Amino acid sequence: MNGKADIALIGLAVMGQNLILNMDEKGFVVCAYNRTVTKVKEFLSNEAKGTKVIGAESLKDMVDKLKTPRKIMLLVKAGTAVDDFIHQLVPLLSAGDVVIDGGNSEYQDTSRRCNELAKLGLLYVGSGVSGGEEGARHGPSLMPGGHEAAWPLIKPIFQAICAKVNGEPCCEWVGDGGAGHFVKMVHNGIEYGDMQLICEAYHIMQSLGLSAPQMAEEFEKWNAAELDSFLIEITRDILNYKDSQGHLLERIRDSAGQKGTGKWTAIAALHYGVPVTLIGEAVYARCLSVLKDERMFASRRLKGPETQATVVNQAQFLDDIKQALYCAKIVSYAQGFMLMREAAKENKWTLNYGGIALMWRGGCIIRSGFLGNIKEAYTRQPTLTNLLLDDFFRCAIEKGQASWRTVVSSAFCWGIPVPALSTALSFYDGYRSAKLPANLLQAQRDYFGAHTYELLGQEGKFVHTNWTGTG
Ligand code: NAP
Repeated sequence: MNGKADIALIGLAVMGQNLILNMDEKGFVVCAYNRTVTKVKEFLSNEAKGTKVIGAESLKDMVDKLKTPRKIMLLVKAGTAVDDFIHQLVPLLSAGDVVIDGGNSEYQDTSRRCNELAKLGLLYVGSGVSGGEEGARHGPSLMPGGHEAAWPLIKPIFQAICAKVNGEPCCEWVGDGGAGHFVKMVHNGIEYGDMQLICEAYHIMQSLGLSAPQMAEEFEKWNAAELDSFLIEITRDILNYKDSQGHLLERIRDSAGQKGTGKWTAIAALHYGVPVTLIGEAVYARCLSVLKDERMFASRRLKGPETQATVVNQAQFLDDIKQALYCAKIVSYAQGFMLMREAAKENKWTLNYGGIALMWRGGCIIRSGFLGNIKEAYTRQPTLTNLLLDDFFRCAIEKGQASWRTVVSSAFCWGIPVPALSTALSFYDGYRSAKLPANLLQAQRDYFGAHTYELLGQEGKFVHTNWTGTG
């Protein structure tokens, strides 16, 4: 017999509570549960007061209150908490029931859980949820993957609660196994990259002597043009923010934290052998920022250039910075999509790249008009090898690259670190090089390790040279 609730949600921290209220608002009956059961009552009598949300006192109670096939979504700390809940749920569920993990789980864990639950006849979905607290409450970007048979069962709920852009839901089925969590991981990595690029632009502007309101004004202008995005918008607000002691930003310690998803993206890039250099540099930049005491000491010992950051035409240079940021951002997304393409090949996922851009277009932290351009690029050419080869992005870099080179070389001359802006430029130059110095690398490898090499025009034929003998 069917019970009352359309879906159960386990995990009453910030994400879970907000997603429940979002589901309730869209007309679904949600059964709420939490490991610390007292939080269920607290939630029902506070945040969820006056809603249709019902609570459960135990997992058994929760399962009994669900319509079949049951849909149970976990929004708990990633890692063992997810395995523990699955372990407790399995004996209570029936074939065809759906378990969804909406946390930031590692995609390999999701693949493993998919395999384990498939053997028990249960459907498993690992879904990226992006947009933080605000997104969860009013419309997140959702990236579900796993057992495709679960999609028709959860689609009405997922597409009702997610963000919409021009009426289109920022949620589509991503692919098998850990595909949803993989795409969410790359999203987070790209978020690291976008944030680092903005920080580098801020650093250069600061070195040029711009005040916080002047910088805010510049970000405001950028937000009205091709860089229009949530992260540029909040940067403007942060720069404008004042408390009783003045602008707050300058009093914040320059030491950045991280939860690990950027690092996972960089690790995946190394694993799949894809040069996702910008995200890697963004992760390292956070690592370097943490060495605050060491940097304070080194700042008194290590000399840099004496040249002061000055420009003749400030308005022109600020436009150059915008162009540099835009070009580097194109490279970053091109690298992220390269990574997804390689992972899809290896894992046999059929990823819809335009659909992914659309999912990120609204609701999530990297939301921007730019993602609309990416969607259009994949609509024009679904089999596009690389975003850099799309006419729109190719022309954008052609237009901006002189500015990009000016900004990176100026920053180098002034001693301002620009790891993300510069690595993107090196990648661009490497990617567009028909010939790289890897011939010398091969010769060196053959010299000391007899690793062999191929001659141009004789690919597939590996030869070795005795480099210390005569030719
Ligand atoms: P969280 O702080 O990551 O986790 C708290 C929840 O996990 C609580 O319900 C807690 O139960 C439960 N929990 C922790 N350890 C547990 C264990 N060993 N066994 C069983 N339950 C356990 O909560 P959150 O910030 O709302 O995030 C939920 C998930 O969404 C996480 O995977 C997070 O990475 C992901 N996420 C978060 C954001 C964000 O902006 N916060 C954005 C996107 C995705 P108790 O109340 O009993 O401690």
